Amino acid sequence: MDTFRAARVRKLSEFTGIMHMHWDGQCRREALVAWIGNLWWLADALREEGLRVVEQPDWRQRGHGEYRDIRGVMCHHTAGGGPNDWQVVLNGRPDLPGPLSNLVLERDGTYRVIASGVCWHAGRGSWPGWPTDNANWHVIGIEAVSRGIPDAQGRYDWTPEQLDAYVRGCAVLVRRAGFPVRNVVGHKEYSSEGKIDPAGIDMDDFRAQVQQVVNRMNAPRNPDDYPLPEGYYFGPLEGPVQSVSGLHPSERPEWREALKHWQRAQQIPDTGAWDAATAAAARALQARNGWNPDGLIGPGTWAAGLRGPAVPPTDEPILEEVAPEIPEGPAEPDTEEPAPTEPQPPVTTPRTVLREVLQWIRDRLPVGR
Ligand SMILES: [Zn+2]
Repeated sequence: MDTFRAARVRKLSEFTGIMHMHWDGQCRREALVAWIGNLWWLADALREEGLRVVEQPDWRQRGHGEYRDIRGVMCHHTAGGGPNDWQVVLNGRPDLPGPLSNLVLERDGTYRVIASGVCWHAGRGSWPGWPTDNANWHVIGIEAVSRGIPDAQGRYDWTPEQLDAYVRGCAVLVRRAGFPVRNVVGHKEYSSEGKIDPAGIDMDDFRAQVQQVVNRMNAPRNPDDYPLPEGYYFGPLEGPVQSVSGLHPSERPEWREALKHWQRAQQIPDTGAWDAATAAAARALQARNGWNPDGLIGPGTWAAGLRGPAVPPTDEPILEEVAPEIPEGPAEPDTEEPAPTEPQPPVTTPRTVLREVLQWIRDRLPVGR
């Protein structure tokens, strides 16, 4: 339906080059704007990266005008910090009509898509390659929900889900709109008006993380490589968003294809879904390796599974077959298992080590209940 509506709007603009923009009910203004493509792809592109997306009704028709060329993205915080911050972004303030940003990043990592056209968010400032004091016509805006002030211990209220989605969402925009990572810019870096947002985020570190995600997205994929984003695993549908079941419409089709590849290596039906046979095969592999047999497929179980089933398929139940072979001793970290064909990239930074430890812990936490 959305595609149909978008096509119809595009069609209109091709004929007239101009059309009425429809404001939400509570706003009495009406503006004449010309439309071309704008960011029609925003919601789909974010979803394809596995991000959660809420499409605000009529977002494709919303904006203060059509984008010229897209040169970057500007990162903000809302300074509110609550679940209704998006309403201000959509409707505006008494001194500034909405939309005030294309995207709102909610505290649970969900992107709320507000507008496909130009939004008023940049204010006065400068950045290399952008028109001074006039960046709105070239820059996508993301307003991330945060109070923007530290607590007594100096900590900000960003959630891990939000920071992860912030980086990945910007990587999606870099790749899709084709601007360099150096043009992922904090409002505080651009502004000549003393803006401090997004507070608590080091933009150099942020850009380095965005670059890592972009590199991963651009890398040619080996079908044996672990197919999911960091922190994600194949698991039950009722698990958290990191649990990829192959059954949820927001999951990427490539993930289902990847799971089929693993299932074929395991000589079980290649359903592309984390089903009973898949969980049993994963548990058998984990039991044989002395790992926590939770049946979830993280990087270690993925790599082990590509070498074939834990036991040759027989008519007997798999778990009875392997139960006596469970070795003594502590569980091996899942991620220490090297991929069969490809050496693991060298661990270079304390941050990477910390991430791997967190991942190891996450893989072992009970999920979905
Ligand atoms: Zn800002």
